[in-house]
Amino acid sequence: MLLGAIADDFTGATDLCSMLVRGGMRTVQLVGVPGPGDVPPDADAVVVALKSRTAPVREAVDRSLAALHWLRAGGAKQFFFKYCSTFDSTDQGNIGPVADALIEALGCGFALACPAFPTNARTVYLGHLFAGGVLLNESGMENHPLTPMKDANLVRVLSRQTDGTVGLVPFGTVEQGAVAIRRAMTGMKEQGRRYAIVDAVSDAHLAAIGEAAEHHALITGGSGIAMGLPANFRRAGLLKEAGDPSALPPVAGHTAVLSGSCSRATLMQLGRAREYLPVFELDPLATPDAVALAAGALAWTEGKLGATPVVIAASAPPEKVAAVQARFGRDEAGALIEEAMALIAAELVARGVRRMVVAGGETSGAAVARLGVRSLRIGPEIDPGVPWTLAEGSGPPLMMALKSGNFGAPDFFTKAFAMLEA
Ligand code: ADP
Repeated sequence: MLLGAIADDFTGATDLCSMLVRGGMRTVQLVGVPGPGDVPPDADAVVVALKSRTAPVREAVDRSLAALHWLRAGGAKQFFFKYCSTFDSTDQGNIGPVADALIEALGCGFALACPAFPTNARTVYLGHLFAGGVLLNESGMENHPLTPMKDANLVRVLSRQTDGTVGLVPFGTVEQGAVAIRRAMTGMKEQGRRYAIVDAVSDAHLAAIGEAAEHHALITGGSGIAMGLPANFRRAGLLKEAGDPSALPPVAGHTAVLSGSCSRATLMQLGRAREYLPVFELDPLATPDAVALAAGALAWTEGKLGATPVVIAASAPPEKVAAVQARFGRDEAGALIEEAMALIAAELVARGVRRMVVAGGETSGAAVARLGVRSLRIGPEIDPGVPWTLAEGSGPPLMMALKSGNFGAPDFFTKAFAMLEA
């Protein structure tokens, strides 16, 4: 294991994994903190996916430290703390407190912080984070229900979350390249600063920052900043080029799509799927019971399981979702459908499904938990940020593609399975 990463949420972890695979590292994502006896997977990079972004601070810190200790014991040479490219956090945390704890545990005294991901229109200029070309606090993120970002100045934002001091490596220095960036960061560390926010508005900047941080024990940021890391290991002769890093062993079996996301992209993808694939719609208003909902869907799949994927969807447009939520309450409606989807996933696997696409972050989490999946070996990308993975755990190995709601092109569902046939 070369790189050991800790990600503060599940789909963010997958995003980071995809970036590392693109850079040539064989990568495995683990679901939650592994047990002390769990053997590290055979991979260049291991990403432990936590659900710590909005957890209570103490819990986020404890889980992150547990992940760090496990990755360290597994031999990781460098550590990465992955958070959102919109720096999702509050004045209480969790980015500052988690990073503080990791720095202390590693005894490294300093870490850079850079959430920039220019391909996704997240850039940092003079310490200010821009999302979609506007300041973070005008991007809509100021209204986020859990982590409203009302200040775009990351030096200030991070300073409020730590008792350490925060400096800035500005655009002008970053433009000069890796040597200048390294010198600036070393200077800050020597002055006793604990963090440096580092500007980046292009992939070239990310590559230079990655190179400058070659010998840092800990790097913190979005998945963009990981872009420059594989090259360091390659230059040091540590990264063995052993064929395609996204190659997965073939898994044969029936195919299915479970869709619990109500996002616009997913609704469009379902619309497209209806032209080609059999689709069953869950109707929680008619059947307000998870077991009965699952039973209805499973009965429909009789005689249909095979190479052509069956599609089971709870996904609905906003007015239908509103009606369901009005009847059951928002959280209860979500929980009811997630439970039905988890039951369906488990029963489909019992009936021989081995290739499964799940649409929706929470829906994916529910399915993965019910299936006892512990690790996902990252395979080829279907669309940016959504790879096929080999899911392993307490059940049989599965091919799974876990799609965050808004990801993927309109033909995602058909394209995903066509890729496995190619
Ligand atoms: P996304 O990645 O798009 O946010 P998630 O799976 O994370 O998707 O969240 C979607 C939530 O909406 C889940 O909790 C799911 O159970 C719920 N849901 C799905 N279909 C419906 C529906 N028809 N009515 C109400 N809630 C729904």
